[in-house]
This record gives sequence, structure tokens and C-alpha cells, in this order.
Amino acid sequence: MGVMRSIYYTLLLLMMLASACSGFEQSEKRRIRQCNEKEGKIFRLSGESLFSFAPIERKELEIYPWEVRESLEFPRITKEFFRCHGSQHHPHKVVESENKEIEIYDCNGIDEHGLVMKGGKEYVHTCFLELLNMLQDTFHQRVVITSGHRCPKHDRFINGYGKEKVTSYQIGAAVDFYVEGQEENSYRVIEKVMNFFCRDKKSQFTKKGEDCWRNHEVIITLNPKTTPRNDDNLHPYPYITIELRYDREDKKPIVPTWRQAHYGYKRN
Ligand SMILES: [Zn+2]
Repeated sequence: MGVMRSIYYTLLLLMMLASACSGFEQSEKRRIRQCNEKEGKIFRLSGESLFSFAPIERKELEIYPWEVRESLEFPRITKEFFRCHGSQHHPHKVVESENKEIEIYDCNGIDEHGLVMKGGKEYVHTCFLELLNMLQDTFHQRVVITSGHRCPKHDRFINGYGKEKVTSYQIGAAVDFYVEGQEENSYRVIEKVMNFFCRDKKSQFTKKGEDCWRNHEVIITLNPKTTPRNDDNLHPYPYITIELRYDREDKKPIVPTWRQAHYGYKRN
């Protein structure tokens, strides 16, 4: 009899616990639902919200006077356009030097190294950036830079010279380019280039050779279609080369040296 009673009380306790749990669960569910109801937003199936928002007004950004440009048709030319075009995918060349055949290899371009350094930073002559952006704005046509900085390895590779030499390209003081749409009007472009570098009577240009002009600051060369091509300029158009002879900012002549060419740029 005692056993029956204890079973009865145990069952009764279990039933009471179950009903208490279920009551607790119900109240918890209700609390969560109420919370969700307060926070939730209602959307139609189409995704349309039932709440309406005030339309956002678009405000034009103000620009400084020196940022005004005549044309915004093309990306502004920056130092990024001057990076070395070397690539490990270029097969090596065999050239002759002092009656011996030697193999020359290209550099690995931007994976291997950066631009010429000045004051601890990568550097491109400001006059190049100003000039090429001015041409782009004037002609409303894209300036294509085919060759800017060339590390000594790439310069040697694309020109295929046996003996090492130092050039203006290796120290970031030369650029090759053409203006898209003005390929057959290169003299128009050269006129603008000359005006840019001609500041006073002292900086007037003199003609040197068929298509070459120079003043104290630059040498401008027009490379016609028939000119022998290096690998950076494998396109069918005439192109213009500008070589700096004088650094406006540093106020001193530019003379490429072996040391500048080999140690003056950033290695990655
Ligand atoms: Zn290179």
C-alpha cells in the first residue's frame, strides 16, 4: 500500500512539473513574439516596404578651384601610368656583344620593382604629369603612354643592346607617348608640347635634325612610323619622346648616372 502511495505522489509531482514547464515555455514564446512584433518591419512579398522614406537629396561635392579641369572624359594621368613594362613572360633574346652571343632577359615589371625614388617616395617628374594631362584636356583625346620608367634590365632587354648603358628612361627622365586620334597630326601635339616648355625667350626651341627640337629643359623627338621600334613601342603610330635635361624643381641639370639608374628605384 505504501509503495502504491509513493508511485501516486511521484506521478503527481511529475505532472505538476510538466504543467509548470509548459506554462513557462508559453510565456517565454509570448515574450519573444512581443519583442519581435515591436522590432520587426513589414515587407510585401515583392520586397516593397510599407513604410515610406523621404527621398535622399543628392548633393554635388564642392571642388577646389585648382581641381577644375576642362575635361573629365579620361582618367587623370598619374604616376601609375609610368611603371616599367617588363614581364617574365617575354622570352629571352640572344644578342651579339664583342663577337660573343649573350642572352638577355626581361625584368618582372611591377612585381619586381617600383618607380624611381625621391625623398623616400616613388616619383615622376611633375612636368610630365602636368603636360600629359594638359594634352588630354586640350584634345579631348586619350594620351597613351607607351614607355615611362624602365629599369636597366628592361631597358636593355627591349632595345636589345649587348653592353649595359645608362639612359634617361632608367632614371624616370623620359617618356614615350602618342595622343589617340592625333596619330597623323603629331606636329599639332608637338606644338603644344613646345608651348608648355617654352616659358621665356631663353627657353625657345632650336631644331636639331629632322624631327628633333631642344631647349635647355627638354629634347622633343617625333619618331615617325618608319622608325625602328623597341618592344615598348610596338604599335603602328608615330610617337613622341620627351627627354628631360633640366630639373625645374631641383633647379639643376639632369645627367643620368649608373648609380641613379641601378639604385634609384624601389625594389619589391
Ligand atoms: Zn623593370
